[in-house]
Parts: sequence; structure tokens; C-alpha cells
Amino acid sequence: MSTRPADGALTPQFTRPGEATITSRHVMPRQESLPETARQIVEDETMLDGNSRLNLATFVGTWMDDAAKQVYQSSFDKNMIDKDEYPQTAAIEDRCWHMLANLWNAPDAEETIGTSTIGSSEACMLGGLALKRRWQKGRRIAGADASRPNLVMSSAVQVCWEKFCNYFDVEPRFVPITIEHRVLDGHHLPELVDENTIGVVAIMGVTYTGMYEAVAEIARALDEIQASSGLDIPIHVDGASGAMIAPFLQPDLLWDFRVERVHSISTSGHKYGLVYPGLGWVVWRRREWLPEDLIFDVSYLGGTMPTFALNFSRPGAQVLLQYYMFLRLGFEGYRAVHQSAQDVARFLSAGIAKLDAFELWNDGSDIPVFAWYLRHGHTSNWNLYHLQDRLRQRGWLVPAYPMPEALTGLTVQRIVVRNGLSMDLAAELLADIETETAYLDALTSPMPTEGQRPGFHH
Ligand SMILES: *Cc1c(COP(=O)(O)O)cnc(C)c1O
Repeated sequence: MSTRPADGALTPQFTRPGEATITSRHVMPRQESLPETARQIVEDETMLDGNSRLNLATFVGTWMDDAAKQVYQSSFDKNMIDKDEYPQTAAIEDRCWHMLANLWNAPDAEETIGTSTIGSSEACMLGGLALKRRWQKGRRIAGADASRPNLVMSSAVQVCWEKFCNYFDVEPRFVPITIEHRVLDGHHLPELVDENTIGVVAIMGVTYTGMYEAVAEIARALDEIQASSGLDIPIHVDGASGAMIAPFLQPDLLWDFRVERVHSISTSGHKYGLVYPGLGWVVWRRREWLPEDLIFDVSYLGGTMPTFALNFSRPGAQVLLQYYMFLRLGFEGYRAVHQSAQDVARFLSAGIAKLDAFELWNDGSDIPVFAWYLRHGHTSNWNLYHLQDRLRQRGWLVPAYPMPEALTGLTVQRIVVRNGLSMDLAAELLADIETETAYLDALTSPMPTEGQRPGFHH
């Protein structure tokens, strides 16, 4: 029985310890609290977080329907690694990546192998590890040195590839993006690839701008390299966002397993797969592209089942949510959702292009993401960081940041349109951009620039 009246259920909520006192930040409290008090404190403190629906910086899902929430609620407890305890969840995971293999036009989905992951980062690590192991084996068989692997990619890669190279001792070789070559398109490959190249990463949906890299052209350049040097260099497609857009909106674009050199494709279930965070997927075109010695076995229905992952325990709920989404939307539903996101992106980019201050980098016709920059010579009174801050006051998070290496002098601002940014809300956003740009343009002296920082990290 409680002997501390101050913590009693009758005490008004905000006069209780925790709410009427300042909670210690780094030391666990000595005593218990009532559940309602603890919950109130957590909810109150997180009120200071942003409204995720107004966050146009992230690619990650922030809205699911109520039936999805029920699926989530009834599967909180499932652990993806316990294939024996949750064999049906394991079977559903298997179905999901087979559906993706088919969506990505694997010539024979039965010949593929894949897995769910916690996100694209883990999926990319696995893709990279498979490339590295395959290369090492080849080198050893040939009696050649296998100690200095390198991986070729655009300077605009997501940070997970820098992590991969750092954590797994692979030399990153960056192809700088420039005004002429806005994405990796095969142009610089002959100077960068050699016998130590484990693979080339092609990004479907570059995080900086949302543009697709030219997978088919990259493959063609690698074909030419193979014809002249004998080097057979595979491609991993980092389709974190685009692998769940292109099949629906650009079905004729050649970027997936129809391109023979594409060994593996990864995506984030929690981006345009339309699931809450954290879920990723990776699929190999043929089983043999995932070297056997990367695979471990866990027990499953009295036998064993192969797994390959960096994590052990991980929530199973997201996999069930992905399955729910596949059933709920089907191909046509995904197409409709992504088409309306693209309509919104095109509406916004067209509206921004009309403003005298700006020039578009791209218009959102690959994935529904686009970036713009301040027209050269337009003003020296303000920059895009000021516009970012003005929009922030209205609740919108629209990040400004510098472009990568070779273009760092160029600051861009970007909008990621996700399911949930309706045309109606987008019209409000565009009106706010117009109002705030007019405000900044009317300034008669320069805004201070101290303490400005990028609104997003790649
Ligand atoms: C988001 C993203 C990643 C990382 O994905 P997570 O699911 O957040 O781990 C990797 N590559 C690209 C191109 C991305 O857009």
C-alpha cells in the first residue's frame, strides 16, 4: 500500500513528484511512479519534438491507417529472430521478399535469396559484404592479393556507404557529382575501377536531390570495361527510396534485375514501402551472389533456417506491417499512392520555379523529391537557411544544406513528399513559401548569418 501521499492516485496530476519537480536527467529515480505520472512526463517532454507530418526532410514513413495500427499493436511482442517461436512471421517475411524479387523483375524469383533488415543501412552493409566476400574468393582462387578492396560510388551516397567502407575496411572511391553529371552515369568509371574493385553502387533516389542514377548506363560502362580488361564488376542498387517507386511510376526504366550486372537490390520498407520505422529489405538476384559463409542457421520448427543479418533480436511487427501494406494496397494501390505523391511534388516544384528567387535542381519526376537553389545574383540579403528558419516558425521542416564534394559551394533546399502530404496541405506550404520569400525579399539590409547550419544529415 502506498504510504507516500504525494504519489497517490488522488493527487492532482501536475502537483505530483515528477511533474511538480524537475526530473533527474541522468540518474534513474530512486522510487517508482504511478504509470499515469510516468506516461504524462514522457508525453509532456516529447511535446517539444516536431510534428512528424510537417517534417519534409525525412523519407521515413510518418502515417499509417488505423487497421495498420491494430496490426502493429497485436504484434509488438514478436521477435524476428525467433523463427521457431514465430514460424508464421518467418514465413511472411519470406513471402514479402519474394514479392519484392518479382516486383524487381528477377528472372526466376525462386532462384533469389533475400531478407528483411532494420533498414536500408543494414541491407546495404549486407549487400556490400556479399560483394567483398565474392571478390576476395575470386582473388584467392587466382592467387592474387585480396587485401585492398575498393568500392566505387557517387560523392552523393548516403552515409551508410561511408560507414560500410569504414567498418569493413574497404576503400571508398567517389565519383564527384557536377553540374554536367548530376548523378553517377558511368562517365568516370574507367578511371576509377580496377582489379580491386568489389562493385559499383548505383543509387535509385539520391538523398540530396531525389534523382535516379543511370543504372543501365553504369552497366554499359562496366560491360565495356569487362570487354577491354576482363574485369567483371557487379552492381548493388541502393534503392532505399526508388526501389519502391520506380516499379510503379516508371515501369519501363531499366534499373533492376533486368540489368544482368545488378547482383543485389536493397530498399527501406519504412520509406516508400509505407511502413513505420525500422524495416529494410535486400534481395540477391541469384543465391550464389550471397556467399554461403555469410549465412548462419537458427532453429526453426525443430530444424534450422538460414539467416544473415548484423542484428540478432529485432522487431517482427514491421515485417507484418509490410505484408499488411502489400495486401491492403496491392500493385495498383501503391501506384495510386505514389502517383499522388508525385503530383504533389510536381505541383510544389512548379510553384517554386515560378518564384523569381529560385531555380530548380530537379522537379520531382523521379521519386517525389526535389531540390532548388537561390538564383545566382538574386540577393545578398538572405540565403536558404533563412528561408528554412522562417518556415520552421510555421512548423514546416524544409531543410537547406550544401551539396557534396565538388559542389559544396552550392546550397540547396529540398522537399520530400510522402504519403500524408496532401495536395491541400501542399497548397498551404506553397503559400507559406511565397509569403516568407516575399518577406525576405523585402528586407533592406542583410540578415545575420551566424550559427547557420544544415537542416539535414545524409
Ligand atoms: C535513407 C537512405 C539510406 C539509409 O536507409 P535507412 O533505412 O535509414 O537505414 C541509404 N541509402 C539511401 C539512398 C537512402 O535514401
